[in-house]
Amino acid sequence: WPAIALSLALGALFGLLLSRTRRVEGPVADLDRALARGEFSPYFQPIFDLKTRQIKGCEILVRWLRADGSVVPPMNFIPLAESSGRIQGMTWQLLGRALADLQPHLKADKEFKLSLNVVPKHLLSAGFIETLRSTVGAAKVSTRQIVIEVTERDELDDLVRAAAVVSELRDHGFRVAIDDVGVGHSGLSRLKALGANTIKIDKFFVDTIAVDASTTTIVEMLVALARDLSMSVIAEGIETEEQVRALISCGVEEGQGYLVAAPLPVKEFVELLERRKSAGLDGTTQKAALV
Ligand code: C2E
Ligand code: MG
Ligand code: MG
Ligand code: MG
Repeated sequence: WPAIALSLALGALFGLLLSRTRRVEGPVADLDRALARGEFSPYFQPIFDLKTRQIKGCEILVRWLRADGSVVPPMNFIPLAESSGRIQGMTWQLLGRALADLQPHLKADKEFKLSLNVVPKHLLSAGFIETLRSTVGAAKVSTRQIVIEVTERDELDDLVRAAAVVSELRDHGFRVAIDDVGVGHSGLSRLKALGANTIKIDKFFVDTIAVDASTTTIVEMLVALARDLSMSVIAEGIETEEQVRALISCGVEEGQGYLVAAPLPVKEFVELLERRKSAGLDGTTQKAALV
């Protein structure tokens, strides 16, 4: 009995140690395996003209499709991918797949824009613009159809360098959008200094715009600022017609949200585009026809 008790105790101790190591090293190894297996998939959410409902482009939103069939949302693995240095590889893989997925559409509609989320650390890393150009060039897609979204949630420590990268991106024809505007660290002067093409107003404001006068004031102010700096405005997280009306009266021109579509896998996204095209639903579509 003492021998059995001892081996049980040792076994438990060993198991505990193993699970400790797995907790420390496991998640990053999981990311590496997912990268090697190509488990990071682009989903696509349409960006539409608020007045005409025409689809002007889409945002790539990553989903981790695990072997067991589960779908992991980005907020559960992007922070780790970022801190472990895996975000770069993931982002290039994702862009490559998105370009391949939508290549026919990007070629057929030269006005259609494809947006990619890039973390500040990646944007500022050596070789970012070169790799971006070669990835987009290899797909024979125009740089003018690619939008780089940089979040202002986290501080862009080196504003001067960030502005230089933005300016170089624009020289090559890429567009740049500042994501999550209004909820992040950067003040209005930083918005100006970055020199982006577009600001994306966070869902936080869209949530209450139809019911809260002070939100309306903030959005009107952001639109006025954007106009002054010759930037366009996209609102995200639009779920109701009331929100569309309120955003239009604030002067916002484009948006995205579940009202038109959630982020969709490529097959469903292309079906959505085809449905609208074949039905001639490009200028004056109503919600019922869209979804
Ligand atoms: P984001 O870039 O601001 O993307 C918008 C988020 O709002 C997406 O969440 C989208 O699914 C969600 N959304 C859009 N419309 C609605 C709506 O009407 N209602 C609601 N409730 N939600 C809506 P998602 O896909 O979970 O992504 C969350 C964040 O994760 C993104 O925020 C972005 O910061 C990050 N992320 C997603 N994909 C990538 C990626 O490929 N690379 C990087 N670096 N970050 C990514
Ligand atoms: Mg985004
Ligand atoms: Mg956003
Ligand atoms: Mg956001």
